[in-house]
Amino acid sequence: MTHDSALTHTPLATQIAADPALLDGLAHLAVHVGLNLQAGQDLVMTTPSSAMPLARAITAEAYRAGAGLVTTLVSDRDMTLARFRHARDDSFDKAPDWLYEGMAKAYENGAARLALVGEDPFLLAQEDAAKVGRANRANAAAYRPALAPIAGFHINWSIIPCPTLDWAQRMFPDQPPQDAFEQLAQAIRKTARLDQADPVAAWTAHNAELARRCQMLNTARFDSLHFQAPGTDLHVGLADGHFWQGGASVARNGVRCNPNIPTEEVFTTPHAARVDGYVRATKPLSHQGTLIDEIEMRFEAGRAVEARATRGGDVLRDMLATDDGAARLGEVALVPHSSPVAQSGHLFFNTLFDENAASHIAMGQCYASCLEGGDTLSKDEVSARGGNDSLIHVDWMIGSDRMDVDGLHVDGSRVALMRAGEWVTP
Ligand code: ZN
Ligand code: ZN
Repeated sequence: MTHDSALTHTPLATQIAADPALLDGLAHLAVHVGLNLQAGQDLVMTTPSSAMPLARAITAEAYRAGAGLVTTLVSDRDMTLARFRHARDDSFDKAPDWLYEGMAKAYENGAARLALVGEDPFLLAQEDAAKVGRANRANAAAYRPALAPIAGFHINWSIIPCPTLDWAQRMFPDQPPQDAFEQLAQAIRKTARLDQADPVAAWTAHNAELARRCQMLNTARFDSLHFQAPGTDLHVGLADGHFWQGGASVARNGVRCNPNIPTEEVFTTPHAARVDGYVRATKPLSHQGTLIDEIEMRFEAGRAVEARATRGGDVLRDMLATDDGAARLGEVALVPHSSPVAQSGHLFFNTLFDENAASHIAMGQCYASCLEGGDTLSKDEVSARGGNDSLIHVDWMIGSDRMDVDGLHVDGSRVALMRAGEWVTP
């Protein structure tokens, strides 16, 4: 599909109201499963203006659950575009550091954090790339104090989707707005397990399943994984003392939460110097407003030494040149082909969904929390174990119903983990 849509030139079609039952279901999941918001706990929520109906439902549910104070920060597509169209040049090196310092302070004081996803994934695709880059850099630098407690998992936090017309029209550009919206709403309903009789119980069972899978992999202590599929024959060494994670986990404030809804992956930290072979993407990668198609990469001693794509190859190579770690792996994740996100068959142009559609690898930064004792390790200790360091973290999909995955022990013995995209042991 093309993302060169007329959306940026025409006024937004009238908003479409989501089914109130879907919004209530998402609000309930956000508060009780995603965040597991505690009585008396404050909440800092961010939302695109297009997701305000869900933000309102969440606010009500949070207060019913005993929230202290709910504070919501709203971004708006037309206000964002107004900046790129009309702001003076030096505006693009500015970011609200005072705001992010305040957010950091709220987390220090015990607040939880919720982000709603629903924005147009290609909002800035037509804007001046240099300005977008400067604004992103300024924002990333200013955001650091507010990101640290999230990345270090100090507090319970979550990301949850909201069906919006902005997003739906990018996914289904050839359909009438109402149909596009309904398709996205239905995909969210299913992948969030809101189509099940008791969604909270469904998430408890799903989390238990992911935890069991992690425990199996953590007990096996594989030295590397071997991926085989058409166009793929890749060995991914795992970091020393790597630790598999997935589903719900306990933040350092003691609260068990689900940072992502939906989530289907179990993931860990690969060894930045022990990745060899070639690999072919099974889905296009949407990166900063560009679609990168049919990626093929070859790795030697951990580094991507060749990278090709039938479309967006320049953007791909730029991305890999970001810094030393950008051409090495920071994540490897296993997702069965039967996952509800994969079964939807859609490309969502948002990592929250797309990374849960297939087994994947990520270029760039590793998660220290996927190393034993990770939260307490220094940067040097993380890299001594093989953990990668980079400014980027970009996931891309390599799994399909034609992929086999084996776990390899140091002595070369092999265990079949996945066949034709599904787990071998139930
Ligand atoms: Zn992942
Ligand atoms: Zn990732």
